[in-house]
Amino acid sequence: MKKSINDVALGGQTVFMRVDFNVPLNAEGRITDDTRIRASLPSIRLALEKGARVLLASHLGRPKGKPKPAMSLKPAADRLAELLGRPVLMAPDCVGPEVANMRSGLNDGDVLMLENVRFHAEEEANDAAFSAQLAEGIDIFVNDAFGSAHRAHASTAGITAHVKVAVSGLLMEKELRYLGGALESPTRPFVAILGGAKVSDKIGVIDNLLGKVDALLIGGAMAYTFFRAKGYATGRSLVEAEKVDMAARVMKDAESRKVPLLLPVDHVTAPEMKAGVPTKTSEAATIDAEWMGLDIGPQSITEFAGKIRDAGTVVWNGPMGVFEIDSFAAGTIGVARAVAASAATTIVGGGDSISAVEKAGVADEITHISTGGGASLEFLSGDKLPGVEALNDR
Ligand code: AMP
Repeated sequence: MKKSINDVALGGQTVFMRVDFNVPLNAEGRITDDTRIRASLPSIRLALEKGARVLLASHLGRPKGKPKPAMSLKPAADRLAELLGRPVLMAPDCVGPEVANMRSGLNDGDVLMLENVRFHAEEEANDAAFSAQLAEGIDIFVNDAFGSAHRAHASTAGITAHVKVAVSGLLMEKELRYLGGALESPTRPFVAILGGAKVSDKIGVIDNLLGKVDALLIGGAMAYTFFRAKGYATGRSLVEAEKVDMAARVMKDAESRKVPLLLPVDHVTAPEMKAGVPTKTSEAATIDAEWMGLDIGPQSITEFAGKIRDAGTVVWNGPMGVFEIDSFAAGTIGVARAVAASAATTIVGGGDSISAVEKAGVADEITHISTGGGASLEFLSGDKLPGVEALNDR
């Protein structure tokens, strides 16, 4: 267990909080979605209420190590000020004499937004001298940017070598509690549902989860690589030809571990991946040569939903079909509803699965929505995240 912001005394302390304010901006530099800023509010408010002096750091976009005004965090600071209902100071940089001056001028309960850490190439290089500069005058490091925790950067990992106290923020703590809980001590049966385009993207997750779950459900285009490995006719469905052996190996592994690996039993197929084309439902073994599987079929939804209903823990990542097109969205929406209706501890990750639970209007019924895409997949793969490892143990 890692220490959290709740475990340390914050009053009068200078806190460096790594947040994820990597928000989308439009051409005029206006924030089009402030979800990430809102998500950071609980940790920021807690630190301010306890009387800390808070420096906030984040990256935004890919400025490639040079200052780019269009990727300034000023709009994020302004939005934060509105949400907090108090001023947020904006620094011209994240290190250097001007920042040091502003930091020394802070009173308890003040907030200073540092400029984009990726304006310095040293950030992504995890440079030791730069990490030490970030840490100047800091008493406590708080990492609340789970989505960046799989990267060993100066503001997520390097800085911890130069501060006495390094703890998780509330968002990070929640991610670790639910994702870590699912991997370490899940309420059984533990059911994982994986979907999306490629087996290759999720192979680490599949391998790790096979050693932990009671059933693995596979949908999306990924399933067709498995069907090819079984020797079934997959028509023009998306298959990763070079991953067929890997799929065969995974099925063998599941069999020897006695973990049921469920593939779709039927499919919604069409001659083309676009709206308005004719569709038909096919059984697994019989996708016509000129057609492609674009969603799991109604029988598969029922079967998957049954497993999800009876589960104690559910982890879901990746859509069951081309859910962006309505005629191929039923499988993904069906799984979203089943996950929401289940009494299990439910964890949903991945941009597409999150938008599916939102589209289905059931996001509130999910136990935990994991926002760090790449980071949550790496965590589920069993990899150690540098930004987490660097935090103090409880
Ligand atoms: P990923 O980024 O790997 O999670 O894949 C997400 C994408 O996979 C979505 O854009 C889906 O449209 C796509 N996808 C899911 N199922 C299929 C399928 N059967 N055929 C083609 N694309 C699919």
